Amino acid sequence: MTRICKHFADAFCFICGQFIKTRAKKHSVLASVKMCEAYNAYFGMPVGDQDRPWAPHLSCDYCKKTLEGWYRGEKKAMKFALPRVWREPTNHTDDCYFCMVNPSRRRAGKNVPPIAYPNIPSSIAPVPHSDELPVSNPPPPPRNEQLSDDEFTTEEEDVDVAIDEFIRSPQLEEGKPYYPNQKDLNDLIRDLGLTKSNAELLTSRLKQWNLLDDTVQVTEQRKRHQSFSSFFTLQNGIC
Ligand SMILES: [Zn+2]
Ligand SMILES: [Zn+2]
Repeated sequence: MTRICKHFADAFCFICGQFIKTRAKKHSVLASVKMCEAYNAYFGMPVGDQDRPWAPHLSCDYCKKTLEGWYRGEKKAMKFALPRVWREPTNHTDDCYFCMVNPSRRRAGKNVPPIAYPNIPSSIAPVPHSDELPVSNPPPPPRNEQLSDDEFTTEEEDVDVAIDEFIRSPQLEEGKPYYPNQKDLNDLIRDLGLTKSNAELLTSRLKQWNLLDDTVQVTEQRKRHQSFSSFFTLQNGIC
């Protein structure tokens, strides 16, 4: 196969195979570590072929967000149980996705026929969910054994970092639970960049689960806001 294809492999999503519009958001598969973990957990196979020129190396925004959301325990699911699977094309006529799919010169509008995506040996179409291939549950989030068994899903990788910091904290006695105090909590909220209402929600949940030091107040977050406000004044509507 020497001839160059009509379209670049990276014009398509590695996961669903759909054409990614030039100006649409796209993500490097290899750089999206969480997405690769989620891909492996969802489809039961690792991300492969990223070292090959005949496989796409990007993901569309929809696939990344859906997979990562599912992995975090949000109620999200892909439309298919098996992703598009790529092999090296044997010819450019009837076994080359990048020559056969024609995404170009499309007008916008309701009556435009959708792009046709072939199911060929070098690019096997995704397999939809069915009774035999239901949506599975995401693996439980990595958790500290001391945490309660209630749902405790982490929002971003940053949380893992924060928990690591807790673990390294010298106040910790091995094997003993550590209940964060007001300062720990404020640091965490600041590191996560939480909004006031999210910070209050987090605090009240942790409090509910008895995971906080007794001295921590849920209303502390409001005070935090007030102390910020005193730094800034509104002048002619400009902060
Ligand atoms: Zn081709
Ligand atoms: Zn996709």
